[in-house]
Amino acid sequence: GLQCGIVGLPNVGKSTLFNAISSAKAEAANFPFCTIEPNVGVVTVPDKRLGILEGLVKPQRVIPTVIEFVDIAGLVKGASKGEGLGNKFLANIREVDAIIHVVRCFEDDNIVHVAGSVDPVFDKEVIDTELQLKDLESIEKKIQRFEKIAKSGDAKAKKDVEILNKFKDGLQSGLNARSVDVEKEDLEVVRDLHLLTIKPVLYVANVDEKNILTGNKYVDLLREAVKSENAEVIVLCAAIESQIAEFEDADEKAMFLSEYGLDESGLNKLIAAAYKLLDLITYFTAGVQEVRAWTIKKGWKAPQAAGVIHTDFERGFIKAEVIKLSDYELYKSEAGCRENGKIAIEGKEYIVQDGDIMHFRFNV
Ligand code: GDP
Repeated sequence: GLQCGIVGLPNVGKSTLFNAISSAKAEAANFPFCTIEPNVGVVTVPDKRLGILEGLVKPQRVIPTVIEFVDIAGLVKGASKGEGLGNKFLANIREVDAIIHVVRCFEDDNIVHVAGSVDPVFDKEVIDTELQLKDLESIEKKIQRFEKIAKSGDAKAKKDVEILNKFKDGLQSGLNARSVDVEKEDLEVVRDLHLLTIKPVLYVANVDEKNILTGNKYVDLLREAVKSENAEVIVLCAAIESQIAEFEDADEKAMFLSEYGLDESGLNKLIAAAYKLLDLITYFTAGVQEVRAWTIKKGWKAPQAAGVIHTDFERGFIKAEVIKLSDYELYKSEAGCRENGKIAIEGKEYIVQDGDIMHFRFNV
């Protein structure tokens, strides 16, 4: 599955947040998870549309889609030079699809701040710098290789070196690779490097419980600092989230949330934002045995989307029957939709839309 890596300096609240994620997974008691490493947490993606379908179809079971979070602890200043097992952690980051960067926006004199004071912008830059240095290393190696090829008169290699140098300059001036101004097709040149700072990112501002709704001056500073990155900032209190995640009873949980003036947990907001960050959308299958949500990338065509269920569905794809959720709600059932001409028959070129209810026809 697709993974988000949780990064940040020590003592910012990463483990606390990760613990909340790990307990939240208990919600899906009958979910067919495979067991994975202890630093990977699988959570279900909350989706109101599943509840709507459940009410209409009354299936035996409902299976939500999931997203994985990886706890990447231990990133410190000097990591790019191997400090504090730096290389191991950087290798972990290389494997994830998106980054969730936790920054400390809470004051607490009892909890040591590694840099001496609460300063989310400085903290963020420390981490960014380590990742940028690592990326610079990758870029410089590729430049060396390609300069040799370019010297032998290879025009393509020469062009590639120019593009690589744009990234090098950007990184050296403190930009993340994702913020370097290049053409979309230029990204091909660095694709094989799996740069750390090119991965999509969102920030979690970990605040005190009294600041959950209002934010605070640290959150404002952080928002200002990341404005040019177009990155989302999620404000939550990790300590409260780990308490929220403990509730099994939905009503008790709602009660607890309302005591803090919340209508939704910060974790749910984070999951939704991470899903969006990964450019994912959901389609549904709806039958009396099972109503289920499936995750695909935005822009996938019907056969590829079918392949998520089973490779045979992709290989033997014939056509897809597609119902819009709004029609399903209006006509109450698949049969109702059929009678009213609301089932579209789509072929191989159909681009699956978020919320589509799909039924695939295939050859075996
Ligand atoms: P990590 O090193 O980033 O994984 O940080 P931890 O999750 O271990 O948190 C470091 C310390 O900060 C622990 O003592 C937590 O209990 C505390 N902490 C985490 N989140 C909050 C918070 O939102 N408010 C307060 N006051 N303390 C927190």
